[in-house]
Formats: sequence, structure tokens, C-alpha cells
Amino acid sequence: MKILVINCGSSSLKYQLIDMENEGVLAIGLCERIGIAGSKLTHKSEGNEDMVVEKEMPNHTVAIKLVLDALVDPKYGVIKDTSEISAVGHRVLHAGTIYSDSIVVNEDVKKVIRDCFDLGPLHNPANLMGIEACEEAVPGVPNVAVFDTSFGMGMPDKAGMYAIPHEYYEKYSIRRYGFHGTSHKFVSNEALTYCDLDHKNGKVIVCHLGNGASISASIGGRCVDTSMGLTPLEGLIMGTRSGDIDPAVVQFICNKEGKSVNEVLDILNKKSGILGMSGGISSDFRDVQKAQGEGNHLADIAIQAFIYRVAKYIGSYVAAMNGVDAIVFTAGVGENDKPIRGAVCEYLGYLGISIDAEANKARGKRVMISTPESKVKVCVIPTNEELAIARETKALV
Ligand code: AMP
Repeated sequence: MKILVINCGSSSLKYQLIDMENEGVLAIGLCERIGIAGSKLTHKSEGNEDMVVEKEMPNHTVAIKLVLDALVDPKYGVIKDTSEISAVGHRVLHAGTIYSDSIVVNEDVKKVIRDCFDLGPLHNPANLMGIEACEEAVPGVPNVAVFDTSFGMGMPDKAGMYAIPHEYYEKYSIRRYGFHGTSHKFVSNEALTYCDLDHKNGKVIVCHLGNGASISASIGGRCVDTSMGLTPLEGLIMGTRSGDIDPAVVQFICNKEGKSVNEVLDILNKKSGILGMSGGISSDFRDVQKAQGEGNHLADIAIQAFIYRVAKYIGSYVAAMNGVDAIVFTAGVGENDKPIRGAVCEYLGYLGISIDAEANKARGKRVMISTPESKVKVCVIPTNEELAIARETKALV
């Protein structure tokens, strides 16, 4: 069974074709600048040089057609005919309060995705365009929606509800949803096996530390809490997002700078985090760490604050679960950045955690970084959202 995984942004489309017999990636690619002049498709398959197609893509339907052409291309393709694609799995941002699991797309599902446009204004419209483009390009092939909010929807109300008047939940579904759900679900389930934990009761904290960063607590793979909220702005300090902040800061900046709420929210989403704290050096952790190493004081505060916030969240999630069996690092920073992993773990001595400095040098691979004596297992498990989407899709079709 071959499954096409699609991740649509407003002007981009990432894809992978996965052979579910061995979960191997047959092809991987990216369409850029959809709807903008200068669109380009880059298609990679094993044993071939990259195929680059520079052709205008006015919309996602045209992009999908070019992707399918690349997949069956006589030279760069990996299948003979699109009929070899059994199903398409789509990453979809938001399903509001309606779905807490992946689902085969029908008209009702599309309506829910559409109804959630205001909860995911940048992503949901693009996700729906990707689904409709596949319906048109490969009619009859089932589409499965895998929601980024599914995992977080499992958290109990005491963690999920905001302490605001209940009418706003009733009227507008305002609550905490959490994001990166596909990653948190995949990594926490992998951790139960990798760390040899009880699959019903194992307590796992997953630190998804990338440009976007979030953290989750789960018991037996079921979400107990997760750090992102109604939107991905809540929680950890990120590349460009502030994470948790006193909402009065918004009002204060609005009044002082004559800005609208939308403008200030834009600043909190795009110009804050380590980019903002470091005085504008970069949203990339490597650049800010380089400046930190050169003695830049603001860069040092930004990195220290990032680490401190992760450690604080871990502490609160240990309290929420009354213990923890495994702590897992994943995503760009979590998989690669040993100083940040090490520094987070330095806060965790009270849990009886000890880290093997040699093992912690590993990058981008699955590795146990705690010592055998450590009371809590600490490991790195690379996330693989595409494979997670493909598995969910396979299970449903
Ligand atoms: P992601 O959003 O998961 O792609 O992660 C992006 C972040 O990961 C960037 O801020 C990078 O600085 C960081 N990152 C990626 N590769 C490395 C690496 N080899 N060492 C340290 N940080 C890395």
C-alpha cells in the first residue's frame, strides 16, 4: 500500500509518498510560491538527482497535478500510475471541538474544516484547498484528515478550559487545543516502547523544541496537558513567538505605540521569542547561540530564558502527572542541540535524573541520553509527522 502525505501551507505544498510495506519514503518534495509568480516544484527520489520544475502554479490544484506528474515521471518517478496511490493523508491544523481523531474526508468533514477557518486562518483554508485539489486530481482515492489538534483534544477540561466567562466557550469554542499534536502523539507512543514503559500507565513528557516549540504530558499515550492553547502562541518561548505572556502587555503596547490588537498579536507571533529577546539577532537558535558564545548579553538572556521555560513546564507536568517515567526531546533543537538538552536537564536533578554526557553528543537520531542509574529515562526520538500521518491514514482506509 502506497500513501501520499500532503502538508499544505497557504503558498506551499510538502509531500511524501510512503510505501507502507516497509514504511520507506519513495519520494519527497516541495511546491513553493503557489499563487505567486516564480512557482517551483522540487522532487527527490532515491538514486536520482533532484527534479526541479519551474512552472506557474496559480493554485493548489495545479500544484497537485504537477506532484502527480513527478511521481509517475519516466525518469524521476517512483510509480507507474497514480492508481498505485491507495490513499492521501492530509495534515489539517484545526478541527475545533468536533473531531478528536483522524477521519476519512467527506462533505461533513470539509464543512468542519471550513467552519474552523477563523480558528486556523492561515492553515485551514490551505489544508482544505489541498484536499479539494486531490479530490479533483485523483477522484475516488480516499482522503484522510489528520488534525494537529487531535492529541490536545484528549486533555481533560481542567487543563483545556481557560478561566474566562464560560459563554465564550459556548459561543466561540474558545479553549486550549494544543498543536504539534501529530508529533506529540507519535513521539510519546514511540517512547513507551523505546523506554520499555507500561503502555497503559507510562508517564511521558515530550519536548518538541523547534522553531515552533511545545511540550506535552501524557499517560499511556493519552494527553494530560500540552503547552499551546487556542493558537500556537501560548506556552514555551519559540523562534519568533513569545509564548506565555500577561495579556495586559498587549493593551499596554497598544496604548503606548498606537497599535491595534492585531498588530501587537502579529509582533507576539512573528517578532518575539528568541528573535525579539535577543534584540533581533535571529529566530534560528544556532545564530543566537553563536552570539551568546561571543558574549552578547541579550542573546545569553534569550537562550537562558528558553531553557528556563522548558524546565519550568517539565516541573509543572511532573506535578500534573504526579511523576514522570520518560522525558523525550524532539524536533530541530531537541534532536540536535546538546547544550540546550544538557542545560534543561541540569534543572532536573531533583527528579534523580543523570545524563550521560557522551550519549548526549548524539544528533538527529534515537538515543538514550540518561545514565542507567537515572531515576527517569531521558532520550531523543526524532519526530516523523509524515510517517505518523501515513500510519493514521492506513489505519482508516
Ligand atoms: P524545526 O522547526 O523543528 O525545523 O527546528 C528548527 C530549529 O532547529 C532552528 O532554530 C535551528 O536552529 C535548530 N536546529 C536545526 N538543526 C540544528 C543543529 N544541527 N544544531 C542546533 N540547532 C539546530
